[in-house]
Amino acid sequence: MKLFCCRYILPIQSPALEQGGMVVDQGRIVAVGSAAELRRRYPHAEEVNFGEGILLPALVNAHTHLELSDFPQWAAAVDEPPLEQGGFTDWLLRLIRVKIARRVSGDDSRQSWLHGVAQSLRSGSGVIGDILSESGFYATVAEQLPGRCYIEVLGHDPIRVHNQWQNLDHCLEHWPTSQWGAAPHAPYTISDDLLAQSYRYTSCRHLPTTIHVAESADEVEFLHQHRGPMVDQFYPFVGWTPFLDVQRHKRPLACLEQAGALRPDTLLVHGVHLNREEIATVARAGCSMALCPRSNAQLNCGVAPVADYLAAGVNLALGTDSLASNDSLSIWDEMAFARDWFNGDLSADQLLYMATLGGAKAMGLDDLGCLAPGCRATFQLLEPEQLPERDQMVEFLCQAERSHDVSLVVIDGHIRYDQTTQEGR
Ligand SMILES: [Zn+2]
Repeated sequence: MKLFCCRYILPIQSPALEQGGMVVDQGRIVAVGSAAELRRRYPHAEEVNFGEGILLPALVNAHTHLELSDFPQWAAAVDEPPLEQGGFTDWLLRLIRVKIARRVSGDDSRQSWLHGVAQSLRSGSGVIGDILSESGFYATVAEQLPGRCYIEVLGHDPIRVHNQWQNLDHCLEHWPTSQWGAAPHAPYTISDDLLAQSYRYTSCRHLPTTIHVAESADEVEFLHQHRGPMVDQFYPFVGWTPFLDVQRHKRPLACLEQAGALRPDTLLVHGVHLNREEIATVARAGCSMALCPRSNAQLNCGVAPVADYLAAGVNLALGTDSLASNDSLSIWDEMAFARDWFNGDLSADQLLYMATLGGAKAMGLDDLGCLAPGCRATFQLLEPEQLPERDQMVEFLCQAERSHDVSLVVIDGHIRYDQTTQEGR
């Protein structure tokens, strides 16, 4: 049993404690309160005093694709110029072009994924909602991913989709204590039939899911009007022209609704182009929504209607998406950016909630995202050059550069990143 003491402890579900303490035993939190009181109550606990710092939960990155973490290097290696303008479909084509030209192997993906885990931990993220399309390193993922791995299902080919279900069953059987889920990719990359099949499969197994929805105007135009760059460029580029015979003439959320996707264990992602009526539907269904503002900005996708989500009472989370559409995997950076991007519609308190409890709830991980008795001991220590006053704490946390203050990340009671050794473990 250990007693961690720190100048500030921020449990999230209650205000910051000054001279706080947290008792941890076998990877779980036993008590949180004043250090002096906990010393009296747990005299045999081994004390670890962090001194002048802020102890708070590891952040939740509710949406990323860690296997793409080396994408910037892959693009540079094949002399692919950066995407300076253009829309979402241009980005999608670039992503595929680079992966083909660079001949990304299974081992490259594995290395890239490991780099992503290390970068996440270094920036204080210890609960990750990762989308995985590669099948060659499930054992590594099962052992090393703090959070939930959603196995991606994409395409119009029933055999390929069936193989992913077999892969998911294999993971559930071999690593039953790891957290798995399914990620039907998006309504524009998977047929209505296979989408409905996905939700039947996951429903039988009580598996949570996540899906990209209404990320871009191109997606809405394709699904609703059956025209635009997805018809003219994306489908021909990937050899899917025969599937263009089926015209859906539905908006993205209607495709999901028809497939049975709108249920409380569904984590929707992006939701930039949902209208108020659709947001009310999302709220009624009890789905969560992960917003990825830096990725939306980089791909010129627009600004998600965050005030409407808040008004409707949708549970919100934050994600970085991948390094193919973002500059870092830091949720601290995402929070600082979101503060400006949403023009003050999200308060610092709301952002911190999204990056902790909101994200954990969105991923169905109810014992993470806060420091409370019974929760998993997954936390971080920040050691900024200057500590804020207690009542300025949350504003301080939403300022840029907090990533650099992360000095320790502990997952389930085990140190996974220690700045003094500069290593993710
Ligand atoms: Zn994504």
